[in-house]
Amino acid sequence: MSTKQTLSFQAEVAQLLHLVTHSLYSNQEIFLRELISNASDACDKLRFEGLNNSALFEDAPNLEVRVSFDKAAKTLTITDNGIGMSQQEAIDHLGTIAKSGTKDFMGKLSGDQKQDAQLIGQFGVGFYSGFIVADKITVESRRAGLKAQEGVRWISGGTGDFEVETITRAQRGTSIILHLRDDAEEYLNAWKLKQVIAKYSDHISLPILMEKEEWKDGELINPSDENGGRQPGGMVKTGEWETINKASALWTRPKKDITEEQYADFYKAISHDHEAPLTWAHNRVEGNTEYTQLLYIPAKAPFDLWNRDKKAGVKLYVKRVFIMDDAEALMPTYLRFVKGVIDSADLPLNVSRELLQESRDVRSIREGSTKRVLSMLEDLAKHDKHDTAAGADGVTDVVDADDKAKEGKYTAFYSEFGAVLKEGLGEDFGNRERLAKLLRFASTTSDSVTVGFADYKARMKEGQEAIYYITADTLAAAKNSPQLEVFKKKGIEVLLMTDRVDEWALNYLHEFDGTPLQSVAKGAVDLGKLQDEAEKKAAEEAAEAFKPVLAKLKEALKDKAEDVRVTTRLVDSPACLVVQDDGMSTQLARMLKQAGQQAPETKPVLEVNAEHALVKKLDGSVHFHDLAHILFDQALLAEGGLPEDPAAYVKRVNALLA
Ligand code: ADP
Repeated sequence: MSTKQTLSFQAEVAQLLHLVTHSLYSNQEIFLRELISNASDACDKLRFEGLNNSALFEDAPNLEVRVSFDKAAKTLTITDNGIGMSQQEAIDHLGTIAKSGTKDFMGKLSGDQKQDAQLIGQFGVGFYSGFIVADKITVESRRAGLKAQEGVRWISGGTGDFEVETITRAQRGTSIILHLRDDAEEYLNAWKLKQVIAKYSDHISLPILMEKEEWKDGELINPSDENGGRQPGGMVKTGEWETINKASALWTRPKKDITEEQYADFYKAISHDHEAPLTWAHNRVEGNTEYTQLLYIPAKAPFDLWNRDKKAGVKLYVKRVFIMDDAEALMPTYLRFVKGVIDSADLPLNVSRELLQESRDVRSIREGSTKRVLSMLEDLAKHDKHDTAAGADGVTDVVDADDKAKEGKYTAFYSEFGAVLKEGLGEDFGNRERLAKLLRFASTTSDSVTVGFADYKARMKEGQEAIYYITADTLAAAKNSPQLEVFKKKGIEVLLMTDRVDEWALNYLHEFDGTPLQSVAKGAVDLGKLQDEAEKKAAEEAAEAFKPVLAKLKEALKDKAEDVRVTTRLVDSPACLVVQDDGMSTQLARMLKQAGQQAPETKPVLEVNAEHALVKKLDGSVHFHDLAHILFDQALLAEGGLPEDPAAYVKRVNALLA
């Protein structure tokens, strides 16, 4: 049967192909990594399905990848004997992109080749990268378990469409035949191929084979050059295949035998990241359950970090057999940026996702791995030079070279992943205290996000009983917030929180190491012992004298303000808005509304500075009503909000100006 059909690529694929061929040619060689990685995945899948159905192995139980080339035909072929594809699978998998978020991905491409290459790797458009070096790709495949006559041939020039037809293929698995472009002929060279494969695929636990070549006349001319000094053109294939990679799972080797570079290369291969990781931990854990963990913390956040449903980076192996990429079960969601491998010696090979959720062993692996990641972060934090708490005893530690290399890494980590880490406060109660110690903020004494709660506590004023903080949309808004005035005047440090998750996360943290956390924008100010008797008395007197005006203000603003009261928190500003102690901050309420969510309709409290000239003017003013509303609207503006009726506000101000 030779029914050839021509089909069109899904629109997104066509668009992607255009991008791949036009933006990645400067980083050609990644195609080999991507195709070998697909071949390796296909073998993993066969091994996994074969657990329940050993017939799938047919008569070839040894899984492998073969790389070969044909100089005359200008083709490079990558063949695996993995799971293979049926005709329908070839149409579906090579003609469409099933993943959601494709649009999102396209939007992220910057036109900067280096960056885009990295993104494409992360997104996993692996197969299409073949078109970087080929102007035509032929795929021949047969799914394990199907008859030889049920093979498929897929051909495309990488533009609008592709062709499929049924073929007979004795061997199960897939051959990717790349018809190389003229500018990619360097890949028709065994030495070049071996070099690229060593760079990207050494850790692949699957053997990668190439056919041995021999020199026909073998005359040595210059032993130091890459051809061993022989005249080119004299190589012939021997028909004998040799394994060209190490083919041992990196994490199973002893630590002392693995170089930093090998650790970094392995990371790059499993993460598709171009950058080396920030740090890693490789351990064999023995105890109730036995497993090996190799966990990495990346240097840069991936483009889809904010997608909480994203696949986590930790792969599960059982006795070296790949089982699955899984999020939930092996790592908590707030550590979804961690990449690596966990290889269990105890789990059954046919473990399912459902079983994983319930397994006691998995729970203990997850707890152990979570603690391991927190220790890695604590170690980085300890060696970050900003971390003054570590040196609070006044002793300067002797710094060795290893410590030196960790300097500044925690700050770097935190700027990429700090906001995700905060989610842990609400997600992982057991580790809340350890997490709280790892948090960093800007403050009124530090613009950089490097102040931990412990640093703050060490600097607290005599008599200060709370850790003060403010949440705002931006650092500038936080710094200039009127609520800070009295704290600035008294030289009390206030933490400035500007991440969207801060407010939510702080719901789960009421104190740090015995000291309560207090928002300066919530409830009445109580500076406690920080306020002296004279100040207290003056404030009480001012409030008393102001009472009649206050009553009028409340009446004038009763639709906008829950209450109006006199405050001591202001120095230069006439008024500010605060929320009741248990209320939701105005920023959070605003954020929820912008996101189209329900926010409780609570009215803020207007606090006025009875000693401010503008406020003093209120008493007996003919413009009382307008002034009262201006006071309220300005307080709203000062914290980044908008008056309910901006036009009315402008009118009132203009009337006064005129
Ligand atoms: P990804 O590997 O990230 O899913 P690719 O574009 O590289 O994306 O591949 C798309 C799909 O094509 C794969 O998910 C897989 O189902 C199929 N595929 C690719 N290469 C092979 C192969 N060598 N053997 C079997 N299936 C393959």
